[in-house]
Amino acid sequence: MLQSPLLQTPGGYINGKWITPRKGGKTLRVINPATGEHLATVADMTGDHATQAIDAADRAMSPASSLHNRQCWLEAIDESLRAHREELARILTLEMGKPIREARAEIDYAAGFFAHYAGEVFRLNAEELKARPKDCRWTIYHGPAGVAALITPWNFPLAMVAKKLAAGIGAGCGVVYKPARQTPLTVIALWHLLEALDLPPGLLNLVIGGSGPLGKVFCTHPAVRIVSMTGSTETGRKLMALAAPHIKKLALELGGNAPFIVFDDADLDHAADELMANKFRAGGQTCVCTNRVYAHQSVVREFTQKVALRMRQLKVGPGIEEDTDLGPLIDRAGWDKVARHVKDAMKHGAKRIVGDDPPRPRQDWGAFYPPTLLTGIKPDMVLCHEETFGPVVAIASFRDEAKVLAAANDTIHGLAAYFFTKDPDRATRVAAALRFGHVGLNTGAGPTPQAPFGGMKQSGLGREGGIEGLFEYTETQVVASR
Ligand code: NAP
Repeated sequence: MLQSPLLQTPGGYINGKWITPRKGGKTLRVINPATGEHLATVADMTGDHATQAIDAADRAMSPASSLHNRQCWLEAIDESLRAHREELARILTLEMGKPIREARAEIDYAAGFFAHYAGEVFRLNAEELKARPKDCRWTIYHGPAGVAALITPWNFPLAMVAKKLAAGIGAGCGVVYKPARQTPLTVIALWHLLEALDLPPGLLNLVIGGSGPLGKVFCTHPAVRIVSMTGSTETGRKLMALAAPHIKKLALELGGNAPFIVFDDADLDHAADELMANKFRAGGQTCVCTNRVYAHQSVVREFTQKVALRMRQLKVGPGIEEDTDLGPLIDRAGWDKVARHVKDAMKHGAKRIVGDDPPRPRQDWGAFYPPTLLTGIKPDMVLCHEETFGPVVAIASFRDEAKVLAAANDTIHGLAAYFFTKDPDRATRVAAALRFGHVGLNTGAGPTPQAPFGGMKQSGLGREGGIEGLFEYTETQVVASR
C-alpha cells in the first residue's frame, strides 16, 4: 500500500469533509500499472454524492468571492504544489506509470496554471463602454458562470485538473470534480493540500467513482452551468448528448491525431530530437503526441535512421526508477490498441525498423510496449485515423507540399500538428493551412499556461490556458443605465 502524508484520508471531499469507504460499501482499487502493486482502496461514490457536492459548491460560491481573494487562493495553491513537488510526483508516477522526471515536470506545469491565473484575475474587472449608445451608460460584468463540473483523464492526473480548477477558482465558480478511475490518488493528495488553505468550505469538491452515474448528475443538475471534460472524443459526444436538453456550457478537450511534417530543408537532427521528446512523453499517451510522421522523400531515409538510433537508446521500465525513459501503458486495453495498430499497419505493408512482437500481458498491469518504429505508412492504415496512444513512430514519405497538407488535415481531429522547415514563406503558408488548434514550427513543444490551447473539429470546444481559459468559466452580463 502507498504510504504518504498527503494520502491520510483516501476518499472524496464534499462540503469540507472527507468521504471514506463505508464498511461493506463499494470501493475502487488503485494499482501501480508497472508492478500491479495495490496502492490504495478509495470510496466509490454515487450520484447522490455528486448532487450533495454540487449543492455545496452552489452555496459556497454565492455571493461571489472578491477578485483579491481569488488571487490569494491561486497564489497559495501554486506555492503549496511547488513545496510538495517531490511527494506529488512520486504518487503520480506510482499510480500512472510515467517516468518520475516527467511527473516532476507535470507538477511544475500544473502549478503554472495557478500562478498564471493569479496574475490574470483582474482582467475580470467590470468594463465600461467609452461611447454612450442609446444615451445609456454600458457596463460589462464578467461573473462566475455557475457551478463548474470537471472531468479529467488518467494521462495527466494533476495537470489536466489544474487547468480547469485554476480557471474555475479565478472566475469565482464553485467546483465539483471527478478524476479518472485509474488515477485518483494524485488529486486526493491535492485536496489534502487544498484543505490546509483558507478556502470556503464547499467551494471545491472531489467525487470519485463510476463515470456513468456521476456524469449524468453533472450534466443534468440545474446549478451546474459549465461541464469541462478532457478525454476521448467518444466521451465528449456522450456528454454533449446528456447536456443538450439542459443547454449547459461545454468545454471539451478531446482526442487528437497529430501529424509531424519534416520538409526537405529541415534540420534533421533537431527534428529527430523534437520528435523523441514529443512522441515518448508519457509513453506516447498524450493528446498532443505525434501519431503520423511525414518526411520528404529526399530525407526520409536519413531521418528514419536518426530516429531509429535515438529509439534504440530508450530505457523501458517502471517510471519510479530515475533513469527510465518509457514506463508501462496504463492498462491492457491500452496495450491491445497499440498492438492492433501495429498489426494493421504491418498487414498493409508497413515495415518495422525498431521493435518486436511483445507477449500480451496476462493481467491489466505490466503493459509495457517496446518502442516501435514503422515505415511505409499509407493513408488507409488505422493509425492514420485513430489515436494510437502508445510508443509507436509511424513514418510516411511525401513528395509535395499540397499533398502532405491534405494528408495531415485528413482527420476528424484538429488538436496539434508540427512541421519543420527553414523557409519562412513556407512556414507562414503551412501554419495557416493546418487545421489544428496548436501548431509547432520547428518544435514539438506542447501547450503552456500562458497561451490558449484547444482543438479544432472533433478535438473539442473552447480553450484552456491563456486569458481565453479564464473566460470559459464566466458569464457576461451587460447593464445599460441612464
Ligand atoms: P475517456 O475514456 O474519455 O475518460 C476521460 C474521463 O471521462 C475519465 O474521467 C472518465 O471516467 C470520464 N468518463 C468516461 N465516460 C464518461 C461518461 N459517460 N460520463 C462522464 N464521464 C465519463 O478518456 P481516457 O481514455 O481516460 O483519456 C484519453 C483520451 O483523453 C485521449 O483521447 C486523449 O487524446 C484525450 N486527452 C485530451 C487532452 C486535450 O487537452 N485535448 C488532454 C489529455 C487527454 P472513468 O475513468 O471513470 O471512466
